[in-house]
Amino acid sequence: MNKTMMDLLNDLYPLHRTLNHDDNLVALNLIEEYIDNEKFSINKYEAGSHVWTWNIPRRFHVNHAYLKNVDGNVIINFEDNPLHIVSYSKSINKKISFDELEEHLYYSDKNPDSIPWQYKYYDNRWGLCLSKNVFDSLDKKVDYIVDISTELLDKPMVAGEFFIQGESNKEILIVTNICHPYQVNDSITGLVVAARLAKELEDTKLFHSIRFLFVPETVGTVAWFANNEEKISNIKYGFSFDCLGNNNTLTLQKTMYEDSHLDFLVEHKVQEYESEILIKKFIEEMSNDELVMSSPGIEIPTVAFHRAPYKEYHTSADNPSIINSEVLEESYNFIKDVISTLAKDYIPKQKSIGLIFMSKFNLHPDEDEDLEALLKIKAINQYINGRHTAYELSKIIDLDLDKVLNFLQIYLDNNLIIKVDR
Ligand SMILES: [Zn+2]
Repeated sequence: MNKTMMDLLNDLYPLHRTLNHDDNLVALNLIEEYIDNEKFSINKYEAGSHVWTWNIPRRFHVNHAYLKNVDGNVIINFEDNPLHIVSYSKSINKKISFDELEEHLYYSDKNPDSIPWQYKYYDNRWGLCLSKNVFDSLDKKVDYIVDISTELLDKPMVAGEFFIQGESNKEILIVTNICHPYQVNDSITGLVVAARLAKELEDTKLFHSIRFLFVPETVGTVAWFANNEEKISNIKYGFSFDCLGNNNTLTLQKTMYEDSHLDFLVEHKVQEYESEILIKKFIEEMSNDELVMSSPGIEIPTVAFHRAPYKEYHTSADNPSIINSEVLEESYNFIKDVISTLAKDYIPKQKSIGLIFMSKFNLHPDEDEDLEALLKIKAINQYINGRHTAYELSKIIDLDLDKVLNFLQIYLDNNLIIKVDR
C-alpha cells in the first residue's frame, strides 16, 4: 500500500521523539520505509561527544514517571502521555510538600486543557507537565509523592539522510525535524512534506543535487555540518520547514541576506501563487535549523516555511485532530514548486563570444508566423551571458520557465552554451 503524508504522520505521532531516544530510530525506520529507497541512510553520533561548541546528548530513557498522593493514588502517569515528563528530566523518588512540588510542575495558562511540552535538555532538573485544570485541582496543603526514574544511556544520537544526485554537485539542503514527542504540526508535518519530496523527486532529472536531513532540531543539524565541513562549499541553498498542516496562512521567512537568488525566486513564486502567503524577515517570527545553516562560516542562504503561530503549539493539543490534510497538501504543493524550480534552474553561458547566427541553428522562427516567439528567442540570445539563471531570464523576458528551458535546450543540443552555477 502506498502511504500518504497523513499515514506517515499518524505512524510517527505516538513516538517519544526527543533529541536522542530509542523511538527516534523507530521514526527513521518508518521514514525509510515510506521513501522506499536504499539510498536512505542513518547517521550515528556518539553520545557525549563534542561537535563545535555543542555536546551530543545521551539517549533519554524513561522507566516510569508518576505523581501520586500520599495514599499511592496516581495523579499523573507518564504511560498516559509522554508529555507528562519534562524531556531529559532527572530521576527522583521522594515525598515532598506542594510548595516544593510546584517549582517542578509545568502547565499552560493559554491552553488549560492541554499538557504543555517542556524540555530541559541541558539543565539537569526534574519536572512534570500537566494540564492547568489538573494543576488547579491539586490540594495545596498536602504532601505528594514524586517517583521519576530516567536514565541517560551511552547510545548514539541518530538522524536520517537522503541524497539525490543532480547534474551539478552544487546542492540544495532541506532540513526537517524528527523531534517533538507526541506532537504533529511541530515538527513532523515538515518531515512528511520532505519525505514525500524525496520520494517524488528521486527519479526526476535535476540540475542541482538535493540533500535531505531528518534530524533532531538544531543539535542534529550542528552534528551533520560538524561531520561534513568539506561539503559546506557545495551547498548553495537551504530550506527548513515545519508547522505546515494547521489552518493558518503559509508564511515564507526570507534568508538573512534578503536579496539572494533564493529570495528572488521564492518571492516570485509567492506572487504567482493563487492563495495569500505572508513574507517575513529572517528570525522575525520563529527560528529553527536555518540558524545553523546561516551561522558564521556556513552562511547558506536559507528560507523557512511555516503556518505559525497557532494556539496548540508545544502542547498535547498539537495532535492529528488539528491537521487539515488539504492544508498540508497545499503546503506540499507550494514547497515542491519552489524546490523543483530551483533544482532545475541553471545559468546558461554561451561558449563563444558574439551574436549567435540564429538561422543556422533553427533558432529563428518566421517573423510573420510567430513574431512573439522570435522576439523572445532574440532576447534569450542576448542574455545567455552567464549572468542570469533560466528562472531570472524567464522573469526578465516574461516567458514561462518551461518555455525558456525548451529554447535553451536547442542551444544545448547545438553545443552553443554550457550550464553553470553560482
Ligand atoms: Zn518546536
